[in-house]
Amino acid sequence: MSASIAQVLYGPKDMRLEKVDIPDPGEDQVQISVYFNGICGSDIHEYLDGMDLATVEHPITHEKAPLISGHEFAGKVKKIGALVKGFKVGDQVAIEPIIACGYCSACRSGNYNLCENSIGEDNAAGFLGFSANGGLSQLCNVSYIYAHKLPDDLPLSLGALCEPTAVAAQAIFNSRIHAGDDVLISGAGPIGLLTAILAKISGAHDVMISDVSTSRLQIAEKLDIGIQTIDLSKKESVREEIKKLTDRQGTDIAFECSGNGSALDADIDALKFNGKLVQIALFSQPPLVDVRKLLKKGGSLLTSYGYANMFDKVIKIIDNNRSTFEKIITKTIPLEEVVSSGIDLLISDKKQAKILVKIPQD
Ligand SMILES: [Zn+2]
Ligand SMILES: [Zn+2]
Repeated sequence: MSASIAQVLYGPKDMRLEKVDIPDPGEDQVQISVYFNGICGSDIHEYLDGMDLATVEHPITHEKAPLISGHEFAGKVKKIGALVKGFKVGDQVAIEPIIACGYCSACRSGNYNLCENSIGEDNAAGFLGFSANGGLSQLCNVSYIYAHKLPDDLPLSLGALCEPTAVAAQAIFNSRIHAGDDVLISGAGPIGLLTAILAKISGAHDVMISDVSTSRLQIAEKLDIGIQTIDLSKKESVREEIKKLTDRQGTDIAFECSGNGSALDADIDALKFNGKLVQIALFSQPPLVDVRKLLKKGGSLLTSYGYANMFDKVIKIIDNNRSTFEKIITKTIPLEEVVSSGIDLLISDKKQAKILVKIPQD
């Protein structure tokens, strides 16, 4: 048993900085000294409304709130369970925070992101930080199959970007993008920006990103990799802008990363024949989709939820493009300020993309 300072979520708007006891890792677990944990949109909803937080025993972990929040984290291996293979103390790792049963048909087919047993009866999500203790803590025990080794010289702040980058990588994979495709992304939050970076790396020709926030679009421009921006606050029409930007009749692929129904509609309008729309963002309200518009252009509606078997690819991509990914991190805050300088700021300040929490080491 070791003491650890952690941010523990008891329920909506009730997060407490506490000293908790973390047991030694189980025989198939490694204990991680967490260095950085990113805050994302789902953390905001979990904090504000208790969305996806286990309130009754989760079917796989048998845990429920209060739980330590955080699912985007990286650190160093501190202790190793008896049956763990391939790790040594001090290894740098990024954690894949998925909870999956391992035996349902989805898991057995390798699609463990779609595990049939991972969603609780209260809709709790199958992720650390929601249905088991997460990374906003000095120490966290994880099953070693979900720990992924990072290069020794990779800054652990970049390691904490593996999780959201894996979300984008799964969407890119599901889209079956080809070199030379034109791509539109709606929503310039972290997932939209990471999807734009990966689309470029995958060989997309024009990569365009739309948002209602000029500040967010400025982050896309600062990446300096040739992403074109469509500013909806200036009443730019996505369809017209795409015609201007690409001199073509629409985009091959649209990735919907905003969770906004009107953005989804604009994306469908912007597709060319046989175009593909990939839905990544979760909607808080069910959107209206006019399927007739897709039908008449032979379009496809695809989805992407979480990730499976993406971390090892993502680690290599981040390692090869460090300076681009560094620009996604707009602020680093101390553990005690998760709510005041993290969650509250992400809601009020659109100049923020990814805020990282630096976990104190003692
Ligand atoms: Zn996240
Ligand atoms: Zn399963």
